[in-house]
Amino acid sequence: MKYDYLVVGAGLFGAVFAREMATAGKKVLVIDKRDHVAGNIYTENRMDINVHKYGAHIFHTSDKEVWEYVCRFAEFNNYINSPVAVYKDELYNLPFNMNTFSKMWNIRTPEDAKKIIKEQADKEIERINSEKGTDTFSADNLEEQALSLAGRDIYEKLVKGYTEKQWGRDCKELPAFIIKRLPMRFIYDNNYFNDRFQGIPMGGYTAMVERILDDANITVKTGVDFYDFIKMEGSVPAKPFESVSGDEFEKVLFTGMIDEFFGYKLGTLEYRSLKFETKDLPDVDNFQGNAVVNYTEREVPYTRVIEHKHFEYGQGKGTIVTYEYPATWKHGDEPYYPMNDEKNNSLYAKYTEMAKEYSGILFGGRLGQYKYYNMDQVVRAALDMAAEQ
Ligand SMILES: Cc1cc2nc3c(=O)[nH]c(=O)nc-3n(C[C@H](O)[C@H](O)[C@H](O)COP(=O)(O)OP(=O)(O)OC[C@H]3O[C@@H](n4cnc5c(N)ncnc54)[C@H](O)[C@@H]3O)c2cc1C
Repeated sequence: MKYDYLVVGAGLFGAVFAREMATAGKKVLVIDKRDHVAGNIYTENRMDINVHKYGAHIFHTSDKEVWEYVCRFAEFNNYINSPVAVYKDELYNLPFNMNTFSKMWNIRTPEDAKKIIKEQADKEIERINSEKGTDTFSADNLEEQALSLAGRDIYEKLVKGYTEKQWGRDCKELPAFIIKRLPMRFIYDNNYFNDRFQGIPMGGYTAMVERILDDANITVKTGVDFYDFIKMEGSVPAKPFESVSGDEFEKVLFTGMIDEFFGYKLGTLEYRSLKFETKDLPDVDNFQGNAVVNYTEREVPYTRVIEHKHFEYGQGKGTIVTYEYPATWKHGDEPYYPMNDEKNNSLYAKYTEMAKEYSGILFGGRLGQYKYYNMDQVVRAALDMAAEQ
C-alpha cells in the first residue's frame, strides 16, 4: 500500500493530525506500540466506570476553536475540577481560595486572609534576610520562594510535602523558579482551572479518540512498534520511508521520543515518571467523596488518590480508586513529564537541529516536541501543524 502519511502514535496529537490530513484527502496509516489507541488519555471501562489508566485527565481550555473541535467527537459533561487536600487529619479545598483560608485560620473575609498571608510572608522574608545579613530579599531555593509568597502555614501544610514528593527532593534543594507564583483566589471558588470551557467526555476519552480516527482515509494498527515496522538504515529510518512488509510513505509524523528516534546520539532527555496502583472496590460505593484528593504530607508516599467514577457522576455499585506515586524515570519506564530545565531544553534544541537535516519527518506531541502539553495545547499544536502541510 502507498500512504501519504505514517503517523507514529495514536495519542491525541497523532489522532488529530491524522484526522486533519484524512479530511484533506490524504491516506494515513496510524500505528501505536500499545495495544490500544488514545495514548496517555486512554480510559478503560470496568464495572461501568471509565478508568483513567495513565493518570486523571480533565479537559479544560480557553481556546474556543479547540473546544468546538473536541465537541465534534464527544459530548462533554459539566465536571469542574475541585480537588481537596488532606494534611494529617485536616482537609482543605484547592486551589488556595477563601474556603482554604477560612478553614485554616477560621476567618471569613478576603481582607482577613490577605492580612494573615502578608504578615506571615513578611515575617519569613525578614527572618531569611537577617540570616543572610541582607536587606534585599532574593529566594535561593523553592522553600524561600514559597515562604515569601504564602507564609508558613500554607507552605508547611499544602506546599512542602507535596512538592518534595513530586520532585523526590527537599524544597531547600529545589530551584526557586519552579514556583514563580502561588495562585491564590480571594473568592469562595473551588474551580481549579480558570479556563472558559471544562469537562470530561461522556463515555470516556478512548471513545472520543476512536471517533477522531474514524475516517475512510485512516487505517489504524495497534501493537506495532515503529522500530520493528520501518526499514532502517543505520540508526535512522531508510528513505524513502518503507515498512518491512512493503508499505510506502511520503512523510512520517512521529509522536514518540525524539532522542530515541535519533538513537540517543546526542544524549538522553530526562523525564519524571509515575507509578499507579489501582484497586477495584466492588463493595464500596463512594470511597472518598471526590474525584481527586491530594495528600500533602511527605510521610504519605502517594501524592493523589483518584476515584474515577466521580468524573462522570457515577451512581452504580462499586468503585475504582488509583493511588498515584511520583517516580524517578529510567529507560523503559513510562516517560510522563518532560523535565523542561535548561540542560534538557538545550539538548532538545540540538535534536531539533538534527531533525531539520533529516527531511520528510515531523515531530509532534509531548514526546516528539519534549514539552509539557495539556490536552488542549496538543489539539491546538496538531491542528496548526496539519494546517501547514
Ligand atoms: C499524569 C498526567 C495527568 C495529566 N492530566 C491532564 C489534565 O488533567 N488535563 C490536560 O489537559 N492534560 C493532562 N495531561 C497531559 C496529557 O496527557 C497530554 O497532553 C496528552 O496525552 C499528550 O498527547 P500526545 O499524543 O502528545 O502523547 P501520548 O498520549 O503519549 O501519545 C504518544 C503515543 O505514541 C506511542 N509511541 C511512542 N513511541 C512509539 C513507537 N516507537 N512506536 C509506536 N508507537 C509509539 C505511545 O505508545 C503513545 O500512545 C496529563 C499528563 C499526565 C502525565
